[in-house]
Amino acid sequence: MRFAALAAGALLAGAAMGAPTAHYDIAVRIDPATRALAAEATLRVPPAAETVTLGARFAVERILLDGQALAASPVERGADRVYVLPPASGARTLALRWHGTLASLDRSLDHRRTLGHAAPVAGTEGTFLPSASAWYPVLRGRDGPLLASYRAALDLPASQRGLVPGRLVEAGEVAGRYRATFEFLRPAEGIDLMAGPYRVQTRTVRGRTGSAVALRTYFHAGIDGLAPAYLDAIEGYLDLYETWIGPYPFTEFSIVSSPTPTGFGMPTLAYLGERVLALPFIRATSLGHEVLHNWWGNGVYPDWASGNWSEGLTTFMADYAYKERESAAAAREMRLAWLRDLAAVPPGADRPLAAFTARTHGTSQIVGYHKAAMLFLMLRDDIGAAAFDAGIRRFWTEHRFRVASWQDLRGAFEAASGRSLAGFFAQWLERPGLPAVRIAHAERRAAGDGHAVRLMLEQDAPAFALRVPLRVRSAAGDETHVLKLHETRQTFEVPAGARPLALALDPDFHVLRRLAEAEAPPILRQAMVAPRAAVAVLGAGAAWRDAAERLAGRMFDAAPRELAPGAAPPSDAALLAIGPHEAIDGWLAAHGLPPRPPALGERSDAQAWAAARVGGAPLAVVAARDPAALETVARLLPHYGRQSFVVFETGRVAERGVWTGRPVAWQLE
Ligand SMILES: [Zn+2]
Repeated sequence: MRFAALAAGALLAGAAMGAPTAHYDIAVRIDPATRALAAEATLRVPPAAETVTLGARFAVERILLDGQALAASPVERGADRVYVLPPASGARTLALRWHGTLASLDRSLDHRRTLGHAAPVAGTEGTFLPSASAWYPVLRGRDGPLLASYRAALDLPASQRGLVPGRLVEAGEVAGRYRATFEFLRPAEGIDLMAGPYRVQTRTVRGRTGSAVALRTYFHAGIDGLAPAYLDAIEGYLDLYETWIGPYPFTEFSIVSSPTPTGFGMPTLAYLGERVLALPFIRATSLGHEVLHNWWGNGVYPDWASGNWSEGLTTFMADYAYKERESAAAAREMRLAWLRDLAAVPPGADRPLAAFTARTHGTSQIVGYHKAAMLFLMLRDDIGAAAFDAGIRRFWTEHRFRVASWQDLRGAFEAASGRSLAGFFAQWLERPGLPAVRIAHAERRAAGDGHAVRLMLEQDAPAFALRVPLRVRSAAGDETHVLKLHETRQTFEVPAGARPLALALDPDFHVLRRLAEAEAPPILRQAMVAPRAAVAVLGAGAAWRDAAERLAGRMFDAAPRELAPGAAPPSDAALLAIGPHEAIDGWLAAHGLPPRPPALGERSDAQAWAAARVGGAPLAVVAARDPAALETVARLLPHYGRQSFVVFETGRVAERGVWTGRPVAWQLE
């Protein structure tokens, strides 16, 4: 999930060198029922500040720079009002007082729209004021908002609780109001404020160094019963990551329930949808990921210009680590799913890892999270877990609360392993695309009294340097050898315990590579992420057309083009065919496309499946009984991109799965 983005690394470096830094001291009163906000603030303004921005929805009662009214009038820019500050060589003080009405909470926003929705919203069920909405006067320099420390005093009706990231200094009810003061003394990118009719549960735990960490849940009443289980889970994650990386860098961690289905990680807290929090698996997955972002992302900041390493490292040390703890099979399944997703990325859309800077759309998320997580897996396979963990701890100690790049990570792992990793990082960060490795030839060899196999591995030029596991099957069982491949064609001789029978290349998916076609059976996502897509709608009538349009609109990253009735499907674009069962079967046959897979069995309300076409362009098919069944598909199918087929019955998913893949194998004659 997303964490708050830090904009200006250079300013942090300035902070370390002793230049004055920005600081906000804010007092804000909010009445969610009327959506009224009234606030005042005193700002320490460093010379780097060029402007101050406040949302145009607010009326400014007073703005004083070093006690004098600001002379220049503000400029309206979009939803913001921008005041230009006269240049100065030293720090100044800006005092403001403002008030206004917040937008009303729209509970229908989905996660994607919430991310792009920068308006400050309020309602009795929840208030969310993102820093991007400029609900407070934001100091900006040449490169964006200045990193700043802050102190914020919140004043809410007694029935509400609220917070901003940071340490809770004091809280209580005074004269029928709830008051809480927070401070954040590290450089922060912005201040996000949350409030709601929360029940707050607190547990204070001791970190590994003995310092106290306050864990809190700010939950809506409907899920408050889950609070103890959440506090237990957070405690477990803190212990895991303190042991693995180093002391938790803050004094609190809170989980805050949101009335909209969103997921934001910020320093010291995670803001997750109320309905998301009610899902039983969130504690075992997303929660740990968000806790870990306090080290990676909000503890060490990525250097955006050279690529965002923090999502990949967080995915590797959270989501993937939990699978490893579950079982070897679960971890293998996750690696295969990542590689399958990467195989679904069209070759031209696969950018180098260093170009991944933030989460923008489907493909970049796949590249950024999964490719980087595989990089860390291969690195640990190569230098060993002890050196990997030592590198992680070293990176944390050296870069805590600073901006760090991929090169800084490389430096930490080089120091820990005593090896140059320049080639490894350069190849995976700077090259687009993935290697594809094949067995070109293999034969049995006599090796003294024993047995051996000679084989040739092949990859396209320019060659990647890879450690490729090879499994040799013999009557004595399976043995795995690691082959160091660095040429386009390279011969190896491998001993075997008994007469060798068969070989399998990287059967457990430890190498970041483009899976062979048989290893990567078609999945629905291949069509969804294709740069060009065509849609054939076979159902007649407005109800079919409307449902088909909704499905196509939700399914593709890029806008698809509709095929004219009777037109032949293009061979160079992804193809989605939508229609009634009988029309679909006839249409597939008429155009020489693969028929409905027999495994799908009896026709249900609706079926969707992916198939391989000659030439490789992805094909997805949706066959439905009637437009109502198609509406169900339109609603649910976009969530099932990782499947090869999905069967729908009575408005829900009845069955789904991935066609079975086969490893790259060689049977010895
Ligand atoms: Zn994340």
